[in-house]
Amino acid sequence: MAQSTYQSVVLAKRPTSLIVPGETFTVQEHKALTAADLKDGEVLVDTLYLSLDPAMRGWLNDTRSYVPPVQIGEKMRGAVIAKVLASKSAKFAEGNYVTCSTGWTEQAIAKEKELTLLEVPAGGQVTDALGVLGMTGLTAYFGLIDVGKVKAGDFVVVSGAAGATGSVVCQIAKLKGAKVLGLAGSDDKVEWLKELGCDGALNYKDPNFRAQFKEATKDLIDVFFDNVGGEILEMALSRAKAHSRFIMCGAISQYNDAKPTGPKNISMVIAMRIRMEGFIVFDYVKEFPAARKELVQWLSDGKLKRKETIVKGGLRAAEQALVALYNGINTGKLLVEVKAENAN
Ligand code: NDP
Repeated sequence: MAQSTYQSVVLAKRPTSLIVPGETFTVQEHKALTAADLKDGEVLVDTLYLSLDPAMRGWLNDTRSYVPPVQIGEKMRGAVIAKVLASKSAKFAEGNYVTCSTGWTEQAIAKEKELTLLEVPAGGQVTDALGVLGMTGLTAYFGLIDVGKVKAGDFVVVSGAAGATGSVVCQIAKLKGAKVLGLAGSDDKVEWLKELGCDGALNYKDPNFRAQFKEATKDLIDVFFDNVGGEILEMALSRAKAHSRFIMCGAISQYNDAKPTGPKNISMVIAMRIRMEGFIVFDYVKEFPAARKELVQWLSDGKLKRKETIVKGGLRAAEQALVALYNGINTGKLLVEVKAENAN
């Protein structure tokens, strides 16, 4: 039976540091949407999965960044996998799976140009569209290949290595013939990184991590792919080879801090003539199809492995899941299942 209402989650109060469950976001109830609400070229979608992304914390700050902040009272932004419920577009039919950025809502009406048809390749699954074949896989691809110019023989160190982006970085680096050291926050994650083919993997929460890191980087770093910033970036700078490349992808250790700390030894960039370059994956939109093709091929050939952590409990679970992301709940891609359905 069709639902009479649907829920969405809006920003209620900007957090000053950590997200406060029950305070930062609020749930709103709306009258259910139907085909009668559609104009020509529009599609009604039912959300199945939300992508949870570290950048979301930044979108809650009223500061200048690569996208405007989410406004108070505005629906929380985010990429989703959804199913078409009704369509007034020739491009999408009822029952199609799509990806879109309709945010934290159970239902939405989107214009056809805002949707991408989701096709599951051989060896793939629906949820890959938000992970290994989606934004995080593409971030790994362009960051390492285009920004980092990885090549055979490089010694590549990856922070946040067991996450959605980092785990793909480690594997592409191996495919390109590099030697790889992955850094992650638990022994289980370290084990998984070794299964993925990393030559070395360290738990940065281990009391002896500093000494272990120094030993593991005794040959010095050619390429550092940084997902976390802060203290680990400082340690990597101290072990950088002359003319090394630092790929500045993310700084999750800083996102919840009211007063973020930079690395104290940033002058190593000068001493070691490091090329340190930030990038945003959306700069590469035109090149996404070609990159996706290569990622699909690696996945189908079994050369690229992935894990995902799926939090159940519907839309209301998203806020707590986002908090948990910053505590490392996930191995691989973190998703929230909004609607239980075997979409595969
Ligand atoms: P992940 O799947 O990697 O999840 C985040 C992980 O970060 C957690 O699982 C946790 O793992 C780790 N983490 C959390 N807090 C800390 C901390 N204080 N110090 C070290 N590690 C921490 O997320 P994504 O793959 O989606 O994103 C990874 C990074 O890439 C983020 O910084 C994100 O902002 C950035 N990004 C950048 C893009 C771009 O275009 N530049 C696009 C997409 C992502 P652990 O248990 O190991 O601590």
